[in-house]
Amino acid sequence: MRLSRYFLPVLKETPAEAQIVSHRYMLRAGMIKQQAAGIYSWLPLGYKVLRRIEQIVHEEQQRAGHIPLLMPTLQPADLWRESGRYDDYGEEMLRITDRHERDMLYGPTNEEMITDIFRSHVESYKQLPMTLYHIQWKFRDEVRPRFGVMRGREFLMKDGYNFDLTYEDAMHAYNRHMVSYLRTYERMGLQAIPMRADSGPIGGDDTHEFLVLASTGESEVFYDSAITDLKFGDRVVNYDDRAECAAIVKEWTTPYARTDETHDVALFHDIPVERQKTSRGIEVGQIFYFGTKYSEPMGATVVTADGSRVPVHMGSHGIGVSRLLGAIIEASHDDKGIIWPEGVTPFHCGIVNLKQGNGDTDAACDAIYAALKAKGLDPLYDDTDERAGAKFATQDLIGLPWRITVGPRGLANGKVELTSRRTGESEEMSAEAAIARVA
Ligand code: ATP
Ligand code: MG
Ligand code: MG
Ligand code: MG
Repeated sequence: MRLSRYFLPVLKETPAEAQIVSHRYMLRAGMIKQQAAGIYSWLPLGYKVLRRIEQIVHEEQQRAGHIPLLMPTLQPADLWRESGRYDDYGEEMLRITDRHERDMLYGPTNEEMITDIFRSHVESYKQLPMTLYHIQWKFRDEVRPRFGVMRGREFLMKDGYNFDLTYEDAMHAYNRHMVSYLRTYERMGLQAIPMRADSGPIGGDDTHEFLVLASTGESEVFYDSAITDLKFGDRVVNYDDRAECAAIVKEWTTPYARTDETHDVALFHDIPVERQKTSRGIEVGQIFYFGTKYSEPMGATVVTADGSRVPVHMGSHGIGVSRLLGAIIEASHDDKGIIWPEGVTPFHCGIVNLKQGNGDTDAACDAIYAALKAKGLDPLYDDTDERAGAKFATQDLIGLPWRITVGPRGLANGKVELTSRRTGESEEMSAEAAIARVA
């Protein structure tokens, strides 16, 4: 992309309404525009990152054997009357009446609708196990929408639902989700720690939240620092292997890690004192086993091998796709701007022409641009007439991992400059060498 033909409405001033760094940088980098409290347009740069995050989520869900579909944002109230949640959900639910006076709602989550799909089409235990998921906009009329996309009212969520014959099968689905989430967050350059969360009145060890440590997080968290040493890395997982998934879950759930809701002071104090950590965290996902809570009242049953009919065991599993942009920026930035992890960066590399209109620098930049594109990369070439200082400030703000700077003086010696956004280190080298390093 050539910057002169792109739409990147960068702001010079820091917007007064933004209280935390990710919100400030997303506004300043022209990634989002607020349209109403907690409702945003995704401008091209923000949209690009959102799509990359979505793509990683899709890949990891499908790797785990989960099936994508797409449910609508608007739902009929009657489904929610069946589960009893229409009255229970409260003011976070946006309720709408259509022209025929039918009660509708903008979905805050989809347990009822997916259960309806399942009961309409699945009859036999032989069709299990099955996990269906989608990535779709949700609406929750949050009391205090704030921090930009971190606590929006309209937000993008991946929500998946498993249907299983037995408790043991459902626990395998639970474990599969935990493993796939660990991979997913790590690919985004994030460390998200699974923490025992509040399972409500049902009790049991059946829900975990994934938290990214950040001072601006809304949850208070307590953990054993040993858990921050765990890395998923590039291990290959057989998602059908129950023991293997269970072992990974055990590895990540053995060190103490809990939110304030489930914190147990006595257990915490059993950890060596130097490893007892307290921090704040951003909830970027949650997995949940809830058994027959929806399948029973809504009649989602299957016929078993012996001919009897039983309600299926279910769980639901969410990732805050749009919130992740904020969480990644909170975890990866400096005082000049965003530092995108390679996995989610909107462009692979920036090219800065220090003397636009100069025949040599223009030709060199065009050649680098073409070479990067030929390698399947997506560079952002700043071919505008801005002065060098402003071009560098924009590059730092939007946080691409690499910048190739081309000026007449370097070119005279056959050199360009390659700068790493993360380390800030620059190195002079030939254009070919720079292209090879970026690719
Ligand atoms: P929170 O505690 O932050 O209100 P939640 O527990 O109500 O979140 P879940 O129902 O678990 O949210 O939804 C799954 C994921 O969706 C959350 O882990 C979070 O990452 C994301 N999410 C929830 N509410 C919002 C919101 N208002 N804006 C952006 N993302 C959200
Ligand atoms: Mg909530
Ligand atoms: Mg929560
Ligand atoms: Mg939650």
